[in-house]
Amino acid sequence: MSDRCDLVVVGAGFAGLACARAAAHRGLKTTVLDRKPQAGVQMHTTGIIVKELADEWDVPPRLTHKVHGVRLYSPSGRFIDLHRPGYYFLATNLCALMQWWTLRAKMIDVDVRFGNPLRNARWTDGQWRLNDADLAAPFLVGADGARSTVARLCGLQSNHRLLVGMEAEFENVRGVDRDLLHVFIDPALAPGYIAWVVPGVPYTQVGLAARHGTRLQFNAFLQRVSGMFDFDRARQVERRGGYIPVNGPLRRIGDRRCLLIGDAAGLVSPLTAGGIHTAVHFGRYAGVAICDYLMDDGPAPVRALVPRLPRYRLKKLFRVAYDMDMPNGVYDRVIGSRLVRAAAQAVFFHNRGLLSWVTWRDIARRWADAC
Ligand SMILES: Cc1cc2nc3c(=O)[nH]c(=O)nc-3n(C[C@H](O)[C@H](O)[C@H](O)COP(=O)(O)OP(=O)(O)OC[C@H]3O[C@@H](n4cnc5c(N)ncnc54)[C@H](O)[C@@H]3O)c2cc1C
Repeated sequence: MSDRCDLVVVGAGFAGLACARAAAHRGLKTTVLDRKPQAGVQMHTTGIIVKELADEWDVPPRLTHKVHGVRLYSPSGRFIDLHRPGYYFLATNLCALMQWWTLRAKMIDVDVRFGNPLRNARWTDGQWRLNDADLAAPFLVGADGARSTVARLCGLQSNHRLLVGMEAEFENVRGVDRDLLHVFIDPALAPGYIAWVVPGVPYTQVGLAARHGTRLQFNAFLQRVSGMFDFDRARQVERRGGYIPVNGPLRRIGDRRCLLIGDAAGLVSPLTAGGIHTAVHFGRYAGVAICDYLMDDGPAPVRALVPRLPRYRLKKLFRVAYDMDMPNGVYDRVIGSRLVRAAAQAVFFHNRGLLSWVTWRDIARRWADAC
């Protein structure tokens, strides 16, 4: 005899827990399955939270560190500093953040089961039967990351354009300005994306990501930053890595029985590769839509969700330009130009979307100011 619930969410990450919390809060009996042994381990992300999410998500301040600007480096080491008054990013203690987020779900009776990989799901008699977990439920959510098992088992679309990222955390790194995200453009080291040094909590995070299929030059990058910051007494405490979908939102992300959210649905900016904001924001919205559907005869959740999703049309175009891997010399030449400064400012500080008129008004203003 299997356990029955209203909703099974696969993945206790940002999207899965946001969805489960919203659903449980509205009265659905909700179970979350995750293959990890426990909360806050085997993380794959840097965990930077943009201000837009910080405003709507009450993360305890002891788990975060405010960073007010970005220092953008060209391959030869020239740099520009970018700020926007009133704006900040939150670097996070990721392990503690996910433990806190899991606890918040458990506190409203979400049944979170770690050490439970989903391997098998079958739809019979109006229910999903998840044999491995001995569970049955009428609705299934795939919040299981960039390479979603739920997408495959439910015949939904899978991500087809990926970056692969790697990061190490170090203690005792000195000389890193803690009020800046240090971002490195260098197609020779990170083709198709960037590398970074982040003043995290409590460690300094050093990482890079590149197009799937290219070799990650992590050691070469580490050597480069060892010459810029003081790594003499540094000790590596963790290494992590994972995939980032940059195809933009997928088209087939659900039907009347199931829904993909977060990375599984491709909800990551193709340009900045940030996905935590959309994972939490739309994960929560999906939980509400599933309740409306199961409890109040509302529309299928996929129909409620899709019209709200960002399309990232211009960001996808910019990604094509990114993928051209211009020679390092080009970046060295243009990094100080007013246009590049204005565009970089828009990319890092405008989550309203590059097609929004506010973004372009700001670019024009900065351009005019600089002239
Ligand atoms: C190196 C790197 C750095 C990044 N840095 C940032 C950043 O600083 N800021 C930002 O906004 N975004 C960043 N991203 C992207 C961000 O991490 C993702 O967009 C975000 O984690 C998506 O959340 P999610 O809940 O959809 O998926 P995930 O966080 O991937 O969670 C998926 C969960 O599903 C579980 N799971 C997977 N398969 C199964 C299965 N078969 N059965 C059970 N459980 C399963 C996993 O264990 C995991 O817990 C980064 C990504 C990488 C790879």
